[in-house]
Amino acid sequence: MKTLSITTLILALLFYLVDPTRACGEEVRVERSRPMMGTMVEITALGPDRDLCDRSVEQAFQEIEAVDRLMSSFKGDSQVSQLNRLAGKTWMVLDPEVLDVLEAAVLYSRLSEGAFDITVGPLLRLWGFYRDKGHLPSTQEIGQARSRVNYRDIEIDQPKGRARLKKPGMAIDLGAIAKGYAVDKAVEALKKKGIRKGLVNAGGDLYAFGRPEEKAPWLIGLQHPREREKVATVLEVEDRAVATSGNYERYFVLKGKRYTHILDPRTGWPIQGMASVTVMADSAMKADALATSVFVLGPQRGLALLNRLPGVEGIIVAEEGPGGKQLVPYFSKGLKGRVSLDF
Ligand code: AMP
Ligand code: MG
Repeated sequence: MKTLSITTLILALLFYLVDPTRACGEEVRVERSRPMMGTMVEITALGPDRDLCDRSVEQAFQEIEAVDRLMSSFKGDSQVSQLNRLAGKTWMVLDPEVLDVLEAAVLYSRLSEGAFDITVGPLLRLWGFYRDKGHLPSTQEIGQARSRVNYRDIEIDQPKGRARLKKPGMAIDLGAIAKGYAVDKAVEALKKKGIRKGLVNAGGDLYAFGRPEEKAPWLIGLQHPREREKVATVLEVEDRAVATSGNYERYFVLKGKRYTHILDPRTGWPIQGMASVTVMADSAMKADALATSVFVLGPQRGLALLNRLPGVEGIIVAEEGPGGKQLVPYFSKGLKGRVSLDF
């Protein structure tokens, strides 16, 4: 009897030592948030010890910081700001990360037939989105700014690691794609450090990997487009990105009318009639760029785009009816009948 119990004990100890899932039972969870990229960035890492989680989360924040330093339009010394100052003049040698994002941006411009266009800089400036003070421009002003908006005038020379903006007065803005890219970089950093379960959320552009609990994936609440504290639905997410573009994120109100920060490059006007677009994809950069693209395209053309891309799903909330007061949801093929929104 005694021998048996010792054997059992040894066996149990052996099993304990080799059991690959052992970490689950005594896992630590480190959760931090910091204001970055004009939003609150939250990073969660689950792992076998606190020190590893701490170091990984710190490294992930640094990756985001580095992306912001290179790509922010609000930092005068970022590579994006420098490239804008050289518009119509000369080439600029850029970090590979910036070139990759420029190349991806041009790809999403083509995919969305110009709805997504990072050369909207002159329009954003004109409407006052850099001053945080809205201005209703004249038709003439819009026409002038619009003549400098065209993604085809971005020239990328990968072999020489450089790019240029062909026309004077052009300006790019990576606000619709850089956050997603930063999230992907942060996730990559966490994984490289050995973290297998985690979440990086840059103000609604997020990527969740692994499972926080053996039986349950990450649960991501989607904010109600009109009521900040309310959750419209909860999505189950595992090894996937979710990004949301909303008319409630940045906007100004003039004479009772709301002007959102997402512009139609073809008309030069802020998009009307859309409350929010949420896109799920295999990378946060893709989800981010597509959410903005679909926001510009609207429900019909937006759904058509989502439905023809493999592995991509989305939820569109349009503002319809008199005064745009009615919120109307549209779902991509894979979500239809599976998700409902609580308005
Ligand atoms: P997001 O919140 O990802 O939809 O990005 C919105 C931001 O992208 C805006 O604040 C602008 O900086 C920029 N932007 C606005 N309109 C467009 C557009 N049509 N294509 C690409 N970027 C845009
Ligand atoms: Mg976006």
